[in-house]
Amino acid sequence: MVLGSYKTAICARAADQDILAKSQDGGIVTQLFAFALEEGIIDGAVVAGPGDEPFKPEPIVATTRAELLEARGTRYTICPNMSMIKEATRSYGLDKVGIVGTPCQIQALRKAQLYPVGMRSVPDKIALALGIFCMENFPYQGLEAMVEDLCNVKMESAVKMDIGKGKFSVYTERGAVSQIPLKLTHKFEQGGCHVCLDYVANLADVSTGSVGTPDGWSTVFVRTKVGEDVWGKAIEAGYFETKDIADVKPGLDLVTKLANEKISKNQKTIEERAAFKNLRNPYL
Ligand code: FAD
Ligand code: SF4
Repeated sequence: MVLGSYKTAICARAADQDILAKSQDGGIVTQLFAFALEEGIIDGAVVAGPGDEPFKPEPIVATTRAELLEARGTRYTICPNMSMIKEATRSYGLDKVGIVGTPCQIQALRKAQLYPVGMRSVPDKIALALGIFCMENFPYQGLEAMVEDLCNVKMESAVKMDIGKGKFSVYTERGAVSQIPLKLTHKFEQGGCHVCLDYVANLADVSTGSVGTPDGWSTVFVRTKVGEDVWGKAIEAGYFETKDIADVKPGLDLVTKLANEKISKNQKTIEERAAFKNLRNPYL
């Protein structure tokens, strides 16, 4: 199934207005980690910290609500969160680690749990893995070119970037929005993203993205027992507002459509690359 297995799908947003204010969509990631931290379900989380250059994140181990809030929002470039996971258990001494990641990062996490080569301290200490939907990602230089050359906005003036409804949008500190059609951004995408077959972080405990729900809300898939426990407790404690996903537009039909499009487009690239390899190496 293109949406992976899940126990429930919900439309939700954070109840905490402070969190919601600067989150990318419904603030699901930040609110759920903040709740899990308060409840002792995790004792820290690997998130994409602000970094030294604008919109160039660096993985950090957040052990406070303030650090989680600082890492809110989407940065459309690689942030190697998995590289901090061992650090989280060793240098930071965490026993219950949360991590957020793109679908490929959550796959890497599950692989490390199954085959913990060089990661002996990790498998039993992963307490909550949150996945974010992902169609594609960009190298930082590519992102800079999109923002500065195509959108005509200085990186340091940007306060938010977003991909949706066929456009890449940059919001500035002065309240302006600059948009370009996605057909102009394709050439900047990472090559590796063109063979990626997971749109909705199938292996996360809880995965979330904006697609399918109205602006300011998120689509949430609760996938595992771990995810169900923490999500259920957070709902009970009033940390999220929710709506039945069947009642919102465009709903899961659009999520399914986009997941199918990603898979079929990238499956074709995989086949083309395999054919090219066989052409060059007839004995392989
Ligand atoms: P917030 O509460 O704002 O928290 C976001 C969390 O993600 C933070 O903890 C932050 O540190 C972390 N984060 C930010 N950037 C990165 C990064 N580059 N790598 C790893 N972690 C990061 N959603 C869709 O619906 N459709 C898409 O096609 C889609 N494509 C995406 C492509 C990329 C490269 C990324 C990073 C995200 C994409 N998303 C997509 C997800 C979406 O932009 C939001 O991240 C998601 O909805 C979570 O929003 P939130 O308000 O719950 O999160
Ligand atoms: Fe990772 Fe796939 Fe997203 Fe590329 S498209 S960043 S490979 S999840």
